[in-house]
Amino acid sequence: MIDVTWTGAAGLRFETETETVLIDPYHTRVNLLRTLFKTIRPDEAAIQAAIASLAKITGIIIGHTHSDHALDVPSIMRRTNAVLVGSRSLETLMTLGGMPGRTTVCAGGEKVVLSDQAEVTMIRSAHGAAMFGKVPFPGEISPAATLPMKAAGYRSGSVFAPLLVLNGTRFLHIGSADAIEAELKNHTCDVLFVCVAGWNQTPDYPLQIINITRPATVVLFHYDNFSKPHTKGSGTPRLPLIDMRGLIRRIRTHAPDIDILVPELDQPMRFPLSSDAVNNDASKELR
Ligand SMILES: [Zn+2]
Repeated sequence: MIDVTWTGAAGLRFETETETVLIDPYHTRVNLLRTLFKTIRPDEAAIQAAIASLAKITGIIIGHTHSDHALDVPSIMRRTNAVLVGSRSLETLMTLGGMPGRTTVCAGGEKVVLSDQAEVTMIRSAHGAAMFGKVPFPGEISPAATLPMKAAGYRSGSVFAPLLVLNGTRFLHIGSADAIEAELKNHTCDVLFVCVAGWNQTPDYPLQIINITRPATVVLFHYDNFSKPHTKGSGTPRLPLIDMRGLIRRIRTHAPDIDILVPELDQPMRFPLSSDAVNNDASKELR
């Protein structure tokens, strides 16, 4: 059994009895005014609370280095010996944080072993046009930058769709609303995580990924307003204008046999999936 929990923005936590793997962990949830105008820094208390009780973290995987994916990484890496996997831009961020050489730097296509039961393939991907029809903050984090820096300093770097295989189950993480079809060829997955934020700029992208990778389950995530705070047990603050129903209908029409889950923040999902969980989630959204 693997418990998977959506922890905010594109953050996912994968837990087995013996290990934890994190993708894009982001707990700081910087508010919008600060994001736009000020330097930003990790919320150490929130990070400590999020990771203190976890089983051994064996891997931390970063899809790209925008602040809602990578801001917290140096702080988390100070607390763990996990294998860190990401781009050259991530290595630059880690160097700025005083930890050069700890990143397994990928350019796309590499398979990285995290533990006896976990490995990840870093599939090259693309960033959605999430900000007024444009890709926000492209390019690399500057080696000449200093921390703390503004959100605009967290350039995307290379963008990946990590394919995590954990205890034999294949999880494909799409942390931004686009993909490169040719790079996905020859890859399949059991569970596909689809970024909802910005999906209507590239409305066919989930269907294209489904056609190629053939998941049994699609999880819709990254729909929270990650500039608003969230406390465990409270509802998920949502981004405005995301048209979740439209996305669910599109996937249902195209691929009626796929199970669609729409988790709340901090609500664990257990894989392999039980049929009860399936009936609850997407149907709730469509009511
Ligand atoms: Zn991004």
